[in-house]
Amino acid sequence: MKLEIVQAGEAVLRQVARPLAVDEIQSPQLQQTIADMLETLRQATGVGLAAPQVGLSLQLAIIEDREQYQSSWNPEQLRERGRVPVGFHVLINPQLEMDGDEKIDFFEGCLSVAGYTADVPRYRRVRVRYLDQHGQSQQVTAEGWYARILQHEIDHLNGALYVDRMKSRTFMTLKNYTDRWRNSEADARRIFGP
Ligand code: ZN
Repeated sequence: MKLEIVQAGEAVLRQVARPLAVDEIQSPQLQQTIADMLETLRQATGVGLAAPQVGLSLQLAIIEDREQYQSSWNPEQLRERGRVPVGFHVLINPQLEMDGDEKIDFFEGCLSVAGYTADVPRYRRVRVRYLDQHGQSQQVTAEGWYARILQHEIDHLNGALYVDRMKSRTFMTLKNYTDRWRNSEADARRIFGP
């Protein structure tokens, strides 16, 4: 079942979500929530969705960056973003750790701030410990776009949105970004900076 994605202004997006216990993770209800979130994410053609975005204040997020989403970017853009396909997976009770202090700027958007985008500095490399959809402990070291997605989704679980971290003068409609700046983010940074 497709779920409604709530928009900025809903209190749930600003709450710290509660952790899940292993028996809750394994319950049919939670497994159905995960399936519904995946259906919702794919319909929205997004790369990540956190439970608060569907009105559930739980430490649960899903990620999937499909190969077909990358076809609108050229090889150089994919390379500089470190963007490669990432298979569907579930993050529960994630703990984020920076791997080095290097940050990198790119424009990103959010399904809960629909129609807008902005330049957001994110750590290039991170490490995340989490439970998967079976309640098993997992750990991933990620870089590039996948690291950005992880930071964005884990922010949602802590009540943060990218607008809290963006370079605010670069905030723009997705339409203006697509029409004018998508292929020249450096120009956008220069014009709208610092
Ligand atoms: Zn988001």
